[in-house]
Amino acid sequence: MNSSNSTHPTAYPEEATLDERDGRYLRKAIVWSHAARRRGNRPFGSVIVSAAGEVLAEAGNSNNETGDCTAHAEVNALRALAGRNISREELAGATLYASGEPCVMCAGAIFWSNIGRVVFGIDAERLRVFRGERQDQRDAELSCRDVFRASPHPIECIGPALIDEASAAHDGAWKT
Ligand SMILES: [Zn+2]
Repeated sequence: MNSSNSTHPTAYPEEATLDERDGRYLRKAIVWSHAARRRGNRPFGSVIVSAAGEVLAEAGNSNNETGDCTAHAEVNALRALAGRNISREELAGATLYASGEPCVMCAGAIFWSNIGRVVFGIDAERLRVFRGERQDQRDAELSCRDVFRASPHPIECIGPALIDEASAAHDGAWKT
C-alpha cells in the first residue's frame, strides 16, 4: 500500500524507465501512431517483437480508413500474426509495444494472443486530457492492468514510458 499516493488521488502514474531495446521498439510504435494520424485515424501504433528481437507485426490504428471500430493498432498488429504459424510458446516470449495504454478490448485481445509482455507509452489517464469530455471520444475507465491481472497466465506490463514522445502525436488530434 502506497500511502503517499493516496493523498494525491489525481496524480498520474509514474513514468517507467526503459532499456535501450524497449525504447527502440516503443519509438517504432510511436512512429506508427504518427502515420495513423496522417492517414486520418486516431494516433495509435503498435509493434510486436519476438524474444529474439524479430519484428513479428506492426500496425497503426485504422478506424476511420476502414470504418471498423475494432481496428485499433494493437488488434491490427495481432491480426497480422494470423496464419503465420507462430506458436503460443513463441508468443508467450514476445512483447507488444503500444504507443498508448491498451484499451479494454485490446487488453483482451492481447490476453487471447498469449503474448506475455506489454510496454506502452502514454497512459489512459494522461490520454483523457487529449480526448476531452466528448462522450463519443471517452474510453472505458478500466486499466489494461486490471484485465492482465485477471489472466491465468502472467502478462508483464510496463508503462507509461517515453510519455512526452508518445504524447506528441495526440496534440491537437482529438479536436474533431
Ligand atoms: Zn484498443
